[in-house]
Amino acid sequence: MENTFLKTPIGFLKGVGPQRADMLKKELGITCYHDLLRHYPFRYIDRTKFYKLNEIDAELPFIQIIVRLKTVEVLGEKATKRLVAQAVDDTGNIELVWFQSIKWIEKSLQPNSLYIIFGKVSFFNGKKQMTHPELELYLPNNLNYGNLTLQPVYSSTEKLKVFGLDTKGIQKIIATLIPQCLAQIEDSLPAYIISKYQLLTSATAIKNIHFPSDADILKHSTKTLKFEELFFIQLKLLRSKLLRTQKFKGNVFDKVGDKFNFFYKNLLPFKLTEAQKRVIKEIRNDTQKGIQMNRLVQGDVGSGKTVVALMIMLLAIDNGYQACLMAPTEILANQHYLSLKALLKDNFLNIALLTGSVKKKDRRIIHEQLASGTLHILIGTHALIEDPVLFKNLGLAVIDEQHRFGVEQRAKLWKKNTIPPHVLVMTATPIPRTLAMTLYGDLDVSVIDELPAGRKPIQTLHLYESNRLRMFGLMRQEIAKGRQVYIVYPLIKESATLDLKNLLDGTDVIASEFPLPQYKISIVHGQMKANEKEFEMQRFVKGETQIMVATTVIEVGVNVPNATVMVIENAERFGLAQLHQLRGRVGRGADSSYCVLMSGNKLSKDGRTRLQTMVRTQDGFEISEIDLQLRGPGNIEGKEQSGVLDLKIADLALDQQILLEARKTVIQLFEDDPELGKPENTMLKNFFVTTKIGITLDKIS
Ligand code: ADP
Ligand code: MG
Repeated sequence: MENTFLKTPIGFLKGVGPQRADMLKKELGITCYHDLLRHYPFRYIDRTKFYKLNEIDAELPFIQIIVRLKTVEVLGEKATKRLVAQAVDDTGNIELVWFQSIKWIEKSLQPNSLYIIFGKVSFFNGKKQMTHPELELYLPNNLNYGNLTLQPVYSSTEKLKVFGLDTKGIQKIIATLIPQCLAQIEDSLPAYIISKYQLLTSATAIKNIHFPSDADILKHSTKTLKFEELFFIQLKLLRSKLLRTQKFKGNVFDKVGDKFNFFYKNLLPFKLTEAQKRVIKEIRNDTQKGIQMNRLVQGDVGSGKTVVALMIMLLAIDNGYQACLMAPTEILANQHYLSLKALLKDNFLNIALLTGSVKKKDRRIIHEQLASGTLHILIGTHALIEDPVLFKNLGLAVIDEQHRFGVEQRAKLWKKNTIPPHVLVMTATPIPRTLAMTLYGDLDVSVIDELPAGRKPIQTLHLYESNRLRMFGLMRQEIAKGRQVYIVYPLIKESATLDLKNLLDGTDVIASEFPLPQYKISIVHGQMKANEKEFEMQRFVKGETQIMVATTVIEVGVNVPNATVMVIENAERFGLAQLHQLRGRVGRGADSSYCVLMSGNKLSKDGRTRLQTMVRTQDGFEISEIDLQLRGPGNIEGKEQSGVLDLKIADLALDQQILLEARKTVIQLFEDDPELGKPENTMLKNFFVTTKIGITLDKIS
């Protein structure tokens, strides 16, 4: 699509040259004209407005002011050496400070002259200050400043600045480039889509994202480029889904047989929630179509995903297939093994557990049974895919707590059978809708949005150190009722650098506060061997211990309905997703339960927001939206596995609407022209010639 002129190496651009080209590549990954055009500004300075000093508060973004320089002097020594200028307008004064290039700036400043200053104002000891402002002499006769109204601000690096490529330097080379190549920028979207959504042409959008003539066109250009970006992500995802469904036949589970029915009628210990029923139906639908299913089941902690998985496994078995269930940790794999066995009561099915701790001899037996088809369900950790495990006829693979598994691993699972098994991915991490659509846009999504009846909300308290006794009191009260308690620490041992509670010291405190023989304690942390962890876990599960002291190894999936208190030490240090997961360990039975967030007295703004959010709500989706806003999509767990989140302009926290539009457009496009064979879509078809999508698919097949 984009022509060869735009592939011209950046060094050929006037004002760049080999040295700067080298730096641009190293620092920003810019190698050709195209890359530079796509180095979008991250901010604009409104050059149509000059602020007065008395109008300024700390909330303002980058602004410009006109001031007269009064004094310029170098203060401090060595590390504290700085250049300080005092400046005034007719409403007040401000201090300008530079820590770098002091000599050079000092020489260039003319006291008593008027300057236009750009920057962000901060307040230091009650005084207005700007550090490293940009400035230029104010020349009243020259007020159009190259016709800029909104001046672009570009991200740069210290190294680039040394080569004159600060934001202004970058602005200059982009200004040189744009007139040369505007005519060469072809539209990346078909004309009918551009007109349907009233977007701008790519050339217009790119010109105006860098040098907008007014705020309206900037808005319009931004929307256009965001739409383009999200459109192509969706195009890739949905096309790979389409190819997959065309390429692979799927196992057909058309019988609802004895095993399923027997379980449903005689063994299921509770009534399914409507949400569980709906999701089972959705999955059943998928598995009858003869195409391979890839479905994500999202359900908040405690929503009952396990039983849904089990029932689909029974369906697979009724149709003559085997099933496997893969969990991210041994503790969880173990727990699934035990709880499935308990749910199935007698042994009408053959279930085995395969983890790293299984002995060679037992492993061989499992292998044999799998190959002969006498083993119905295999539960395990990733050992299950790393191992040379061969199934006779694997029909369904369930992956629990997906965020620990990568796409690669999913692909490996597919290879376990000639016809790839249906894949059911279960996640308790409530992923915001936008993120789910970009991360898992090639999967279908089912949501269990209802908790089993009778669950009482978990009362969440935030306590400071001074209220520790209240936490002990709550623990005593619950243990006296026969309930159990978790206490989670951010660290195992004392740390020289982090002033945080740690598990080892914490255990001593707990042990003296809750002495034997009345109280018994289990300890689980990441440095213990798998079998030790399992032993301690089982003591707690069986109710032999009342208190479980642990690190976040228990974060995911652990299910002990009798536990009613979750205490989290230094809760301010945990992310929201993690806090929500941890809290989800309680409230699993019919009793009232509690989550106590212990924190230090000093809280950062975000830390406080996290704790307040936890106290206010238990809605996993709301929590994940706030998490997205606090951390930005780049830091959301699980995104590493995708690579699709390398967004240049769109912001998943803000641009949900545009994403929905882009996705809808792509869905319609494929309904209308699945092969992209129509002439108006040729440009989209060509897009795939140059991307890696084809290669990924070949690797899987
Ligand atoms: P998660 O979705 O977090 O994996 P689980 O599958 O571990 O949740 O279920 C949590 C608890 O709720 C388990 O003890 C399970 O037996 C129970 N449970 C699941 N579904 C129901 C239901 N419909 N009614 C009552 N209890 C249920
Ligand atoms: Mg679970």
